[in-house]
Amino acid sequence: MFRTTYAVIHLKSISHNVQQVRLAAPYSKIMAVVKANAYGHGLLRVAKSLNRLVDGFAVARVQEGVRLRKAGFQQKIVVLEGFTTHIELQNLVDYDLDVSLHSTHQLEILNDQTQSKQLAVWVKIDSGMNRLGFKAHEVHAIYEQLTACGSVKKPLNFMTHFANADDKNDSKTTQQIALFNELTANYVGEKSMANSAGILAWQDSQADWVRAGIMLFGISPFADLTGAELNLKPLMSLHSHLIAVRSISANETVGYSGTWVSSHATKLGVVAIGYGDGYPRHAKIGTPVLVNGERVPLVGRVSMDMITVDLGLDSNAKAGDKVTLWGENLPIEEIAICANTIPYTLICGITPRVEIVESQSVI
Ligand SMILES: *Cc1c(COP(=O)(O)O)cnc(C)c1O
Repeated sequence: MFRTTYAVIHLKSISHNVQQVRLAAPYSKIMAVVKANAYGHGLLRVAKSLNRLVDGFAVARVQEGVRLRKAGFQQKIVVLEGFTTHIELQNLVDYDLDVSLHSTHQLEILNDQTQSKQLAVWVKIDSGMNRLGFKAHEVHAIYEQLTACGSVKKPLNFMTHFANADDKNDSKTTQQIALFNELTANYVGEKSMANSAGILAWQDSQADWVRAGIMLFGISPFADLTGAELNLKPLMSLHSHLIAVRSISANETVGYSGTWVSSHATKLGVVAIGYGDGYPRHAKIGTPVLVNGERVPLVGRVSMDMITVDLGLDSNAKAGDKVTLWGENLPIEEIAICANTIPYTLICGITPRVEIVESQSVI
């Protein structure tokens, strides 16, 4: 079958990437973060590939955790956003999901509802991110209240999340680590701080559990490094085909609003991919695209279903030829910079129109 626009998921690469987490954090258990449909790669597909390689999973929402349990996964599953309603709390208990507890609103619901089983809790400490969690001065009182709460499993576990760990020179992470360690020093439960950037750049943050997300997908958490430079292998490559090759003369505009004008006669390639597939609309003129493995620049605006590239006057490319948007020989980190975004948004943004093809090959 001819596939027009498709993402290849190189599942074998995931064991290599887990190995890199183990090498970087040899004394920690690994929680694989598979929120947002495993960063766009397919929740169950990725969880299956990780099944015997990691010690647990983390998801953002209760429903994501329920989906993993219903599919038969038996590891620890931590729901990072916790619960907001009684029904969500009931689901956590019914499906044996660990929960991040970050607010007094959650505590009220807990105290309001008798559980058939105890809930495993990770007390979320806000060490500087200012998103979710208890402030330093609240931690002791929360600890006491949860300890007294019969529906909570003991010992309590603790986690925090870094705001700037991707910047190796930012002392904020050092401060967050110090504050978390100080606040939890006297508590016996398990502790977790590090995301991918923490795992790779902040050894002091590794603790009992590391929470590996982006690096499992072979992508660098740092803006100045590619996954390849960190010895990671990308899971996703994104492909399409040329659907037309057209000649234009000098001084013609291409695409909506005429943002690009040809300076010379050239051949234009029209590729069947656009923001309707998840290719970033803000990819700038000059963003590299591979046509038959050769780099050519994106020209004109990205539209919903198509982009245009400057193939050059001497090109032999023709309709049907293979195009790579990221993946083999074209790091997604480079595309993210050209689109003024981060690779996370690119992989999460692949739309259902894009066919997913699983592959056992490694890029
Ligand atoms: C998403 C997330 C992670 C994983 O982050 P990466 O940068 O993808 O490794 C870890 N912890 C929390 C709380 C998260 O929300």
